[in-house]
Amino acid sequence: MEPRDLSSHTVYRAGRGIEEVARELGLDPDDMVKLASNENMFGPSPLAVEAIRESAERMHSYPKASHADLVEKVAALWDCQPEQVWLANGGDGALDYLARAMLEPGDDVLVPTPGFAYYPMSARYHHGGVAEYTIAKADDFAQTADTVLKDYDGERIVYLTSPHNPTGAEFSTEAVRTIAEETDEETLVLVDEAYGEFSDSPSMRPLLDERDDVAILRTFSKAYGLAGVRLGYALVPETWADAYARINTPFAASELACRAGLAALDDDGHVEQSVETAAWAREYIREELAADTWPSQGNFVLAEVGDASTVADAAQEEGIIIRDCSSFGLPECIRITCGTEADTRRAVSVLNDVIEVVEA
Ligand SMILES: *Cc1c(COP(=O)(O)O)cnc(C)c1O
Repeated sequence: MEPRDLSSHTVYRAGRGIEEVARELGLDPDDMVKLASNENMFGPSPLAVEAIRESAERMHSYPKASHADLVEKVAALWDCQPEQVWLANGGDGALDYLARAMLEPGDDVLVPTPGFAYYPMSARYHHGGVAEYTIAKADDFAQTADTVLKDYDGERIVYLTSPHNPTGAEFSTEAVRTIAEETDEETLVLVDEAYGEFSDSPSMRPLLDERDDVAILRTFSKAYGLAGVRLGYALVPETWADAYARINTPFAASELACRAGLAALDDDGHVEQSVETAAWAREYIREELAADTWPSQGNFVLAEVGDASTVADAAQEEGIIIRDCSSFGLPECIRITCGTEADTRRAVSVLNDVIEVVEA
């Protein structure tokens, strides 16, 4: 026998890890800097690390109190009802829950290109079809209501990424409101704010009070530095919130993840340090890198370097791992994650040498 027809499904390709690359190139992993997956350069919050250690001895129990406590805490943070908080195994898990709750077989979704690979993957897992709207490099990747609406054709879910990965561009609240207004009543506008903490612009949270067709995605993977524990959530309209109980995988977030999340939310200093350093690093990269770049509100910068794959390979041999954006359909661009001050300076210096050689 065989699995169902998975030929339209694509495989997610994560950025490569330091261990893997170091082994292949015969380099010392401690000398390598990975700025390829938009991870937090300061690591996890020390409070979260402590919470994980302390909770280790309770791992024989299912997460019950910790899950409820974290939902309460997140609800308080966003001033919404606990039922509006859909905790999940990473932001990706929350994308799955939304697809599971919204899609009937054959429903279509509308995703950005270039864009986050997991949107179409998640929709296809849930028997959905995928259409795309184009974010044009010729317009400097501008994200307006028209960018989306010109390609909208009644899809059930419209995915917006703000700040966008990998471009760093944003939607205004007004643009999101217009998109929600102009699309069908039965179309969910899902705003992915995975990088929201790094942005100077406000969250789309106020739209949840105005409308019942907007949801927001947030994650602990980026600013909170907890990518490894897998914790994220959706904030959903009040009216259909009880759907969570009907679609969620039991114990959607692990005990370890919930304890880490609770502690991380108490560590404002860690988030502030991460956000401030990212703001410094993205300006530094834009000023010092010998390549065209785009303004970014995330913890990364997109740069045009000619042949991204050659540049990425050459930088890697010098111990700097950055993201070749070929898989995003931008083979001339790289994405550089904001590092610590020292790592960012070293990455820019190595990249400038590499770019000079590659262009020569
Ligand atoms: C990182 C990221 C996410 C969420 O990642 P998780 O680790 O699953 O929480 C969601 N959307 C975008 C655009 C991202 O870059």
